[in-house]
Amino acid sequence: MTAEDKIDTRKIELVMQLRKRGISDPRVLAALERTPRDVFVPDQFEEQAYDDHALPIECGQTISQPFVVAFMTQALGVGPRMKVLEVGTGSGYQAAVLARLCRRVYSLERYRTLLSQAEARFRALDLTNITTKTGDGTKGWPEQAPFDRIIVTAAAESVPDELIHQLKIDGWMIIPVGRSVEDQTLMRIKKTEDGLTQEPLLPVRFVPLVAGRPNEA
Ligand code: SAH
Repeated sequence: MTAEDKIDTRKIELVMQLRKRGISDPRVLAALERTPRDVFVPDQFEEQAYDDHALPIECGQTISQPFVVAFMTQALGVGPRMKVLEVGTGSGYQAAVLARLCRRVYSLERYRTLLSQAEARFRALDLTNITTKTGDGTKGWPEQAPFDRIIVTAAAESVPDELIHQLKIDGWMIIPVGRSVEDQTLMRIKKTEDGLTQEPLLPVRFVPLVAGRPNEA
């Protein structure tokens, strides 16, 4: 078996495992199958790219667990004509999965180093519908707002007001909320004419959402 065959087998096994754990949307499963997670993890972890756990990336951050990426993507209810904002590009893996499902992904990251690496991966995979920028995601991306969907991949103590403002009416947001790593809940927020609804979906563990100036180094 070649190294590539091995990766393919592991990827297919992972997708089967995700299906067993309740990821049922065929578009989401197909998007995961088409996105090579091995490209998004540091070289020394390539062997573990298709294990269902989070892995360290540079700048002390993490690439999320595949199940959590699949779960968040499914819960976001993305359609092909939608404009999606992601806060926390990290490795770029979640953005790459979303790019297969919507019209355009706008992704913000506070570390320039991580963003440069993610951008190189998007180019290598020919993903041309992802626009990125360094910035403080708690402020959203006002020039590109409003968004049909917003996904935040770092844990907030509370939901930033600016992100609510930048969501369209009938827009949804998925965001981990919690004061400590041990106590975070993935929330789905829906904005309607009448206000907001909030649903707790899943206990999670994310790195913190850090407000303030981005790290340009
Ligand atoms: N979606 C990523 C997961 C990255 S972990 C992936 O698929 O790999 C969360 C990321 O959020 C980290 O890279 C961190 O630097 C970034 N982050 C934290 N606070 C931020 C903020 N205020 N604005 C933008 N990015 C932020």
